[in-house]
Amino acid sequence: MTAFQDGKGLATAEKHYSHYGARAKELKAEGKKIIGYLSALCPVEIMTAAGVVPIRMVGNVSESITKGDAYMETIVCPFVRNVFDSAIKGRYTFLDGMVLPHQCDSIDRTNDVWRDNLKLPYWHFINFPHVTDDPSIEFTKEILRLFINTLEDFTGKKISDETIVQAIKLHNENRRLMRDLYDFRKSNPPLISGAEMMKVLVAAMSLPVEESSALIKDVIEEIKKRSPVSPGKSARIMLIGDQVDDVAIIEAIEGTGASVVMDELSIGAKMYWEDVDITPDPVQGIAERYLRKLKIPTTFVGEGNTYQENLDARFGQIKQHISEFKVNGAILFIYKYCDPYGFEVPAMKSYIESSGAKVLYLEDEYSTSTLARMKTRIEAFLEMIA
Ligand code: SF4
Repeated sequence: MTAFQDGKGLATAEKHYSHYGARAKELKAEGKKIIGYLSALCPVEIMTAAGVVPIRMVGNVSESITKGDAYMETIVCPFVRNVFDSAIKGRYTFLDGMVLPHQCDSIDRTNDVWRDNLKLPYWHFINFPHVTDDPSIEFTKEILRLFINTLEDFTGKKISDETIVQAIKLHNENRRLMRDLYDFRKSNPPLISGAEMMKVLVAAMSLPVEESSALIKDVIEEIKKRSPVSPGKSARIMLIGDQVDDVAIIEAIEGTGASVVMDELSIGAKMYWEDVDITPDPVQGIAERYLRKLKIPTTFVGEGNTYQENLDARFGQIKQHISEFKVNGAILFIYKYCDPYGFEVPAMKSYIESSGAKVLYLEDEYSTSTLARMKTRIEAFLEMIA
């Protein structure tokens, strides 16, 4: 048991959530190499196989950007600016390196700002393509091999196919456990609240995969002991967006009596819904998972011959979640200057509405400073549903 795991289940999740990165600091003191990453598009399996500890980077929604804007233009999305601000103020001094993927302009165009100012010993930009045809899969395999080579050079250790397969199995198990935990949200009312779930999701991405799985198992055991209460009639909400990693917005929704029962967030369902297939060349399975199975707005999923078939390929999983988790309202919480998510709002909104769920679109900052204004709109929306 680590110094940071003196509780069980939700209590441990709360600690890792409130003291984000504390476990990574402990591991660093033990001699481990810690690599930060910024997106669901970073293949954690490869980092685990390299023997480094991947930690998803978060900002601080309660803190204003005071230093970062001297380095980054203010049209960069507020999430990226806030995390960079945290990093430049010294929150991530325990990092040995960082990985950024070719995703959106806010990440791509700031790669050199991060690299040149943080000056970490290891740096890698994964040049993911934006289309999913067969040549793109071949290209992805090549850039993943390049990623593997840079990690081998950095750690001084070869990464064998067997080690990659082992890491894939560990992360698939981690995803399965998290999906099992999500299942407790299907009941009415859900057995785990949206705020509790957010803390588990955030805690899980700050830990090595084995510790993350142990934490989720403990939370599952704790939740299993809860007794179902009589059904409520409140709104069942799905939260959709990129990196929403703080409970503030969830508490604003659940404070009205509604339940956040599902998400389509890049730290949530997008991380956990699709496994990596074990293929003879393990890099093939990783390439297919991150390029074809992971549905993000910066990857064009060219499946189907008609507009409707294209929509089904891109958003079909959201419709499935709406049905399985009995969602009756979706909140699209999109950050300002996030073009990829912003562009697909009209199509996504009408697609979700066609399933019968109501939709509220909010464009906001990565900050609690604007939450009071958002709350009024959220309350008005939830009154329509309840
Ligand atoms: S919120 Fe949008 S712009 Fe910002 S990092 Fe995510 S995808 Fe990119």
